[in-house]
Amino acid sequence: MRIDLHTHSSVSDGTETPEELIAAAKRAGLDVVALTDHDSTAGWDRAAAAAQQQGIVLVRGAEFSCRQGRIAVHLLSYLQDPDYGPIRAELERVRASRVERARAIVDKLARDYPITWEQVQAQAGDAHTIGRPHIADALVALGVVPDRTAAFEYLLSPRGPYYVRHYSPSATGMIELVREAGGVPVIAHPGAVGRHRIVDDDAIADMVDAGLGGIEVRHRDNPPEQRKRLAELAEHFDLFTTGSSDYHGAGKPNRLGENLTSDAALAAIESQAFGVPVLRPVPTAR
Ligand code: AMP
Ligand code: FE
Ligand code: FE
Ligand code: ZN
Repeated sequence: MRIDLHTHSSVSDGTETPEELIAAAKRAGLDVVALTDHDSTAGWDRAAAAAQQQGIVLVRGAEFSCRQGRIAVHLLSYLQDPDYGPIRAELERVRASRVERARAIVDKLARDYPITWEQVQAQAGDAHTIGRPHIADALVALGVVPDRTAAFEYLLSPRGPYYVRHYSPSATGMIELVREAGGVPVIAHPGAVGRHRIVDDDAIADMVDAGLGGIEVRHRDNPPEQRKRLAELAEHFDLFTTGSSDYHGAGKPNRLGENLTSDAALAAIESQAFGVPVLRPVPTAR
């Protein structure tokens, strides 16, 4: 089967609605797609209805913005109970902090560029989670940069002068909460160079102790030597590995299905989960 376990919709920083994303997944020939918006599960119901209509299997998930010590960690979570209070509380705190932080970045940028918070809000539309990509879109609309990627090179880079951090929970704590909610935690693109510091072996070992289920090995941001290291770590710790696109619609060059996950890894996720089921389309009479 063609299985892609990491995508974003306009609920966070993807450019397509959940319905458009599911239709694109079908067109890309995927059999299984996971919706993993940043810090939100608000797209689940719309994606579920669209997946039933399109006849594609849906894995409901999310990508949580975490940290482990000073390292930024993105934690994918699959099939967790979306109503589990402790996770809801963390996500509300993260999303609120993201708004404050985006406003702070815009305030800094506004000293040098004609950008306003209203313009960023307009770009974000009804997104549930605000992120730097929405600020990037406002900068593109203003003609300051040609595209999101260019905005991230300097203006929105953590190494640039306008960057502000937001609150993020510890990855190990979040892994424990995901397991309590019946979800399966997978560390996203841990070998991504440049974007943030590589997640080192010690941090991964701590996450394994906390209940990590798998490692996203095949991701365009993990270079070959990192994939080798991560595959060996997965073998050593008896974790499954995944491959995914991290599709953001037009917001990134990543294409649906550019990396895939094995049937066996999906089966492992499904067998470990007790939050919500994998949604398989049921035939409807017509
Ligand atoms: P934030 O969550 O606000 O810290 O912003 C990080 C998000 O920006 C990531 O989830 C990516 O989707 C996006 N992003 C990071 N780097 C780039 C880039 N070079 N081009 C486009 N999007 C990017
Ligand atoms: Fe993103
Ligand atoms: Fe990520
Ligand atoms: Zn992602």
